[in-house]
Order: sequence, then C-alpha cells, then structure tokens
Amino acid sequence: MTTDIDDLLARATLDEQISLLAGANFWETVAIERLGIPAMRVSDGPVGARGTDFNSGPASVNVPCSTSLAASWDPALVAEVAGLLGLETRAKGARVLLAPTVNLHRTPIGGRNFECMSEDPYLTAETAVAYVRGLQAQGVASCIKHFIGNDTEFERMSIDSRVDERTLRELYMVPFEAAVRTAGVQSVMTAYNRINGPFAADSPLIADVLRGEWGFDGLVISDWMGLHSTADGVIAGLDLEMPGPAQFRGEKLAAAVACGDVSAEQVRACARAVLTVMVRTGAFADGGPGPEATRDNPQDRVLVRRAGAAGMVLLRNESTVAGVGVLPLQLAGVRRIAVIGPNAAEAQIMGGGSAHVTPVHTVHPLAALQARCAQLGVEVVHAAGCDIHKTLPAIDVSITDGMSIDYFADPSALADPLASPALTRQAPSSRLLWLIDPLSRGTGGKQFGARLQTNVTADVSGTWQFSCAATSPTRVLVDGVVLADSETGARGGSFYGMGSDEVVGHVELQAGHSYRVTVEISQVNSVLGLAGVNVGMARPIGGDLVAGAVDVASTADLAILIVGTSDEWESEGWDRETLALPGRQDELISRVADVCPATVVVVNAGSPITMPWLDQVEAVLMTWFPGQEMGDSLADLLFGDVEPQGRLPVTFPSRLEDTPAFEHHPGRNGVANYLEGRLIGYRWYDTVGRRPLFPFGFGLGYATVEIEGARALDSHTVEVDLRNSSARDGIQVVQVYAHRLDRTGLPADEPYQRLVGFAKVAVAAGAASTVVVALDPHAYRSWNIVDHAWQVPSGQFELRVGTSSRDVAVRLEVASSLHA
Ligand code: BGC
Repeated sequence: MTTDIDDLLARATLDEQISLLAGANFWETVAIERLGIPAMRVSDGPVGARGTDFNSGPASVNVPCSTSLAASWDPALVAEVAGLLGLETRAKGARVLLAPTVNLHRTPIGGRNFECMSEDPYLTAETAVAYVRGLQAQGVASCIKHFIGNDTEFERMSIDSRVDERTLRELYMVPFEAAVRTAGVQSVMTAYNRINGPFAADSPLIADVLRGEWGFDGLVISDWMGLHSTADGVIAGLDLEMPGPAQFRGEKLAAAVACGDVSAEQVRACARAVLTVMVRTGAFADGGPGPEATRDNPQDRVLVRRAGAAGMVLLRNESTVAGVGVLPLQLAGVRRIAVIGPNAAEAQIMGGGSAHVTPVHTVHPLAALQARCAQLGVEVVHAAGCDIHKTLPAIDVSITDGMSIDYFADPSALADPLASPALTRQAPSSRLLWLIDPLSRGTGGKQFGARLQTNVTADVSGTWQFSCAATSPTRVLVDGVVLADSETGARGGSFYGMGSDEVVGHVELQAGHSYRVTVEISQVNSVLGLAGVNVGMARPIGGDLVAGAVDVASTADLAILIVGTSDEWESEGWDRETLALPGRQDELISRVADVCPATVVVVNAGSPITMPWLDQVEAVLMTWFPGQEMGDSLADLLFGDVEPQGRLPVTFPSRLEDTPAFEHHPGRNGVANYLEGRLIGYRWYDTVGRRPLFPFGFGLGYATVEIEGARALDSHTVEVDLRNSSARDGIQVVQVYAHRLDRTGLPADEPYQRLVGFAKVAVAAGAASTVVVALDPHAYRSWNIVDHAWQVPSGQFELRVGTSSRDVAVRLEVASSLHA
C-alpha cells in the first residue's frame, strides 16, 4: 500500500478523486479500495471525543469547556487536556477532532460562547495554539472552527456577517492565524454563515488569506450541511463537503468539470488536501476507522479535576469574621450547611449542541460536598429551590416499565396498529437524535416511522404535562388521547434550530395508576436522515420551591447556592435572550442570603450572568461548565486544597444594554453588521468609559500576591516582581496591556488598550518572585486598510502591568519601533 500522494493522485480517476471530496456518511470520508485508500473518521469536539453516536455510543471523558480552559490562563495545562482529547479521539477510531472552536465572544449572550474561549483574540490564540499542539502530538488532526464570523446563532445557516477588513484582521482572524502559523493546525472548518457576501464555505478568504498569506496546506472542511454550492466551493478551496453522502458534489461536480466550470486541477488540489491529512495523521496505516471504545483511566479523572478547578474564578470573597474571607471554608463551629440550587444535585458539566458527549461518569456538587462534610462531621441539607428547565425534562424512566421503540420503513404504517415493526429496540431516553436512519443505516431512504411506548405509573395525583419538540411530525398520546402534536408548534426552537418549538399538553393523572404513553414519529424527507425528538414530562407543580429552600437554609450556619444555566439555555442553535439567571434563581439567592449568616454563590454557567444580589452575598465563584469531575473540582476550591487561580476571559457587564454589540446584535434583514468594529469586550468598556460588573482578567486568590515593580527589558519583554504577603502559597496571573500614547488621528474604534502578554506565577507564602513576561511578537502591529498589510506604527506605547484590565500596578513607557 502506497502513501505517496502524487502517485495516488496520478492513478486515481477523476471520479475517484471527486469521490474523496465529500463524506461517505456523517463522520467518515470515502474509501477507495482499488487504490488502498481507507476511510478516515472525524469526531466532535471540543469537550470530549463523542464518536459517531449521539444517543448510545460508548461514553467519553468530558473535559472543561473552552471558556473554562481560557480562564485558567495556563497554556501548558490546556496542552495537557488536549493531549488527553487526542487519546480519546483515537479511542473512537477517529483521526480528526472537530475542535477547538475559536470564534470570539462578540456578545455575552452568544449561544456557543461556552464552546469558544474568550472575547480577547490574543488569549484565544494562546489557548488555541496550546490546544492544537497538545492534540496533534497524539497523531490527531485538529480541525479548528468556524472560519469565520460565526459569532451568533441567530439565522445561523444564512446570516451575513459584515465585518470590516481591519476588524477581521485584528480580532476575528487572529486565533486562526496563530493556529496555522504557530501551531501548524492541520484542518480548518468553515462557518455556516456568509462572510461579507458569500457563504464562508465559498469565501475567497480561504484561498487569499488562509492558504495564500498564512501558507495553510491542510484540509478545509465544510460545517455540517454548510456547503451550498458545487463549483464555487471547490474553486474557493473548500476540500471536503461534510457530512456525506455528497449533496453538492459527486455527480454534480463531475458535470461541473465536464462543462468546464471547475477544472480537473481544482478537484485534484482538494483531493490532495484530503490525502495529505490522512498521511500526516496516520489514517492510512489504520486501514480504516477502528472500533469505538471508552477509555477511563484514574489519571485522566485527576487531570480533568485539576483543570476544572484551575478555570474557576473567585469573584468575591467578603469576610464574615473580621479580616477573613468566608472562603476557603472554615468549618469550626459550623454544624450544618445548606446546599441549595437547581444545579446542586445535577450540575451542568457541559453546554448543549454538537459539542455534547456522554461522560464516563459525573461527580455532582451535592454528592461531593456531602462526602467532604461527612468526613468533617458537618451535616448537609439540600433543596433545589426552583427549576430552570426551558422545556420539560425527559420522561423520568424510574416511574416507567422501560421504553421500547418500534421502527417501520414506511411512516404510514403508524396508522395501522397491527403492522409489524422492522426493528424493535430499547430507548435509553425520551430525548432521541438519529444521525442516519436507523433501519438502512444511511444506505436507504431517508424516511422511517417510529413508535415509542412506555407505561408511566403516576406517583402523585394532579395535572401532569407532556410535551414534544421534533424535526418531523410527532405526536404524544396518553391512553390513546393526543396531548401534544409537534406540527402545531412554530419552527426553530429545537435541534440546532431545525426542529419545532416545544408543544405542551396537560392531563389529570391519579397516583398509583398506570398510563400508556405512546409517541408516534413520522420521519419524512429528512435532511440526510437527521431526525430528533424531545419528549418531555412534568409532574404537577406542588408548593413553592423557593419558600421551601429558604426554610431549609434558615436552619443552616452557611448556605452554598449552586445556580446557573443549562445546556438548554446555552447551546448551539440559539443565543440567550438575557443575561439574567433563568427561572426564579435571582429571587432564590436573595431570599436565602437574607436568612443565612453566610452565603456562597457558585455560578455554573458558560458565560456571564447579571448579579442583582451581589452585595447581599459573601462569596461568588464562577465555575463555567467544568467537565465531568465538577463536584470534586469545586470541593477542592471551596475547601482550599486548590488556590483560586482562574481569571475572567470575558468581561462581566452590569447589564446587557452596556455591551458592545447591543445595538447591532443579532442583526436584521439577514445581515449582522459588526458596527462596533474593533471594540469587543474590554476594548469597548475601556474606550467608551463604561464600568463593568467585573473586568476582563479579574479574579481573586485566597493568598495575597501583589506586583511590586516591573521593568521593560525591551519593547517585547517585561520583568515583573511579585510578593506574597500572606501565609498561604499563592498564584497570580500577571497581565500586560499595551496602550498607544499618541492618539491623534486614530480611528474611532481604536481600542484604548489590548492584552499583549501574560504569565501565571506561583509564589510561596511570604516569598518574593520575579517573572519574565514575553510579549506577543505582534504586540504593536495594526492593519493598514490602504496598503492592506500589517504595519507597526512608530511611537510611544504605555505597557500596563497588572492583575486585570482595570487593576494596573505599574506603567512603563516603551517605543514600539524598538522591535519593529
Ligand atoms: C457544528 C460543528 C460540528 C458539526 C458536526 C455543526 O452543527 O456547527 O461545530 O462540528 O455540526 O457535529
């Protein structure tokens, strides 16, 4: 078997080359047996390697979300985590991980922000470079995404992101450029959206910038169903249409070549890119995608636990006893702790959408805190306090006799109760997603019928709710009566925007009685066989959950509130509408704080929230979605085994109206105009003089590590002296921001300052330390829109050395021209 690409291309017919340019199925490329070219599997990305099955495939290690990784300000740790993801990808028989996601947090309500890293291009780039290097060291290609301008989920398959040239260069392209030039990323995924007119999959930026300027010679993959052209995409340099089988390529591309719209050389260039990544990763040697397995090693759990804790950001730590912060927890005199909140017993360890994986296990906060407190002889009491479901939760299988699902090749068979199914399976949940049709496994028609059945024994009498949201006509019946029909709902609210809104029906049930629940799914003409149903169920609403939790909390010496969002609120497919915590959580926090001597709020969300109760509580800890070990990571932090060392990778605004893209987000008439230009995140707050709730880069430690002095060794190197004046070992993240001093004639969107360097430093109790911070080699460059080129303006810059974008300890003046 040869892996000589020139030889393979010389021997491959045009049709064979064309066949390589689209997937064979949802996750694999096409094999050409005659030439000994195997198929290659790809997998999502970025918080685990899921493999090919959304519903019931082998479980995967779930690592912290990308915002959490960026919050660690620790590229070495990020590389370690990505190395683990490389091993996980291999265990799923794949050679490409569809990660990392490096679009920027243009607005704090972006639905996929948790999947992205930061509002800052340099922090994103540094984190991404570490991620790509760690992953690729395991023989796995990183497919960085989504190139470019995929910063909202609003009309995500069609919105035209209109971004001016300088903003694209100085912000949104920076992480991609670094991944190509510094980390040698092997693959790039284009975005769903249009970028300044054409679809990203057809954009001239692929040839001109990605390949032309940056020298990228790897594989460009379309986002799933994000290619809409036959000739344009190939001409632009989009190598691989995914998923397969081909929608726009195959015979259509052969015809385009025959009539001269696309040249044979253009086809060959795309085929070369596919083969190149296969050779570089070792996919040829695999001889085809391997079996999918779960790997679950104790050292992986330890790494995920450490990484989860490293990303947590301590935002507030007020004293209850003079001079001593409530954290780390000191339990002398504490008899009872109330652990309250909707995310306590079942935390949110990851966000929603294609990034979702089935974790190998999950440590929830309540269980972890109970275990710790039991060792210390402290009682833990718990109440959820409210629920934050956006749609009804899945049917509680514990009150059923199991769920079976019958499949029929023809959906019309559902009308005949006597029709025999072609296949019967147990259903793991009433939330189901099929990527290929379950009967033909992608080889046959794209339609099927399915009947899910179960007996639910009511455990309380009253008005129960049943619901469904689906990609195709679906009905929920209880004892033969239709309670919910997806066809009566509006479109867009489920399945990444491809499914219906949730439709809810009500029915009176008697405790102790059993009811037949039937779900009929008519899957007709689906897009590539992708189909999904979410069937929900809720018991009668009994009592006031907030009041109940306040009663529980009032008996405790300390309350730990675990609040946040969920994978329904923060998901691919839609943005959030508000920064407020969902449900009655703000009220819950405020009322618990009123009755408890000390209140610690743990925010389990992927992006910023507002905190109207901030002054009422002693401590606030932001955990993000920290992965499967969340409970233990959290306990390590709260009990002080681990020093808080995370710093905000995003600004926390006081209100949505203050945010940079507020006026222009999400867009109108099919267009998202980035009129705030380069004023993203702290660049905006600093430039327009608006006060955030918490600034970018902010985070407290338990120890007190301060900057005592700093010197510029040259324009790209700063030496910083730190002292730890406390009796605990500490960690500080030193940050350097560059501010241009001569501001005459600068454009209105010229940022006041920008992050150009950082270093995470451990300083022992009572000790001093000196660290050298190497600044971004591009610290002073700006994009010249006349010459369409980078330039380094000569002049004086102020380097601000501090511990957040607002906490500046030392200012140093340097001339940019020193290292032009
Ligand atoms: C997402 C991609 C993902 C792909 C495959 C798309 O919906 O935008 O990020 O890699 O699906 O699941």
